[in-house]
Amino acid sequence: MKYYYDLHIHSCLSPCGDTDMTPNNIVNMAKLLGLDVIALTDHNTSLNCKAVIEAGEKIDITVIPGMELTTSEDIHAVCLFPTLEKAINWNEYVDKKRIKIKNKPEIYGRQVIMNSADEEIGEIEELLLPSSNIGIYEAYAKVKEFGGICYPAHIDRDSLSIISVLGEIDEYCGFKTAELADKKKEFELKKLHPILNNMKIITNSDAHYLENMREAENFFELDSLSAQSVINFLDS
Ligand SMILES: [Zn+2]
Ligand SMILES: [Zn+2]
Repeated sequence: MKYYYDLHIHSCLSPCGDTDMTPNNIVNMAKLLGLDVIALTDHNTSLNCKAVIEAGEKIDITVIPGMELTTSEDIHAVCLFPTLEKAINWNEYVDKKRIKIKNKPEIYGRQVIMNSADEEIGEIEELLLPSSNIGIYEAYAKVKEFGGICYPAHIDRDSLSIISVLGEIDEYCGFKTAELADKKKEFELKKLHPILNNMKIITNSDAHYLENMREAENFFELDSLSAQSVINFLDS
């Protein structure tokens, strides 16, 4: 069956995520747009995944728990997990590996943890944006150890992407999938970086605001839909 996806969405827990990106607003917008499956990928944290998964269950939107990791090279990589428990284990690992500086909410925005009723239950005091000390070439294997998968985010962007930082995607990186911000750049990028011909290319919204979430247009063909089935597909 066809399942429409958007596997890169930020909540109000990302400093740059809008305060309207609450668990229920995100899943309701996903429903309105015709999506079947979304992933919550806040910067260097998975602590709003529980609430978004629960909100999604109420309206039949599958939510994959995830994170957008900032690597030691300042490259963004999307990490996805089959279960909340695995995502939280990964969250604890990354928490010990990231630079801790205090957030300045008036500059970067607040970092709010919510429950599935969109009520604030906490706030992360340290800024979530700075890099971790996990390198891009160890990220794939490391995430796999925790039971998830990882792929480079928005590889066509001029900053915070594997190509803008390193100039190429090494064949030993392990990634089976890469994310493009703009699908129209696929042909050009595949010519410049032939390794992409051997990888799955997906496009997500990277929405930080409700209005940036996109109409359902990208889909997978899967026998059944679950976080695990999407992860298996992306890792094959
Ligand atoms: Zn990013
Ligand atoms: Zn992002």
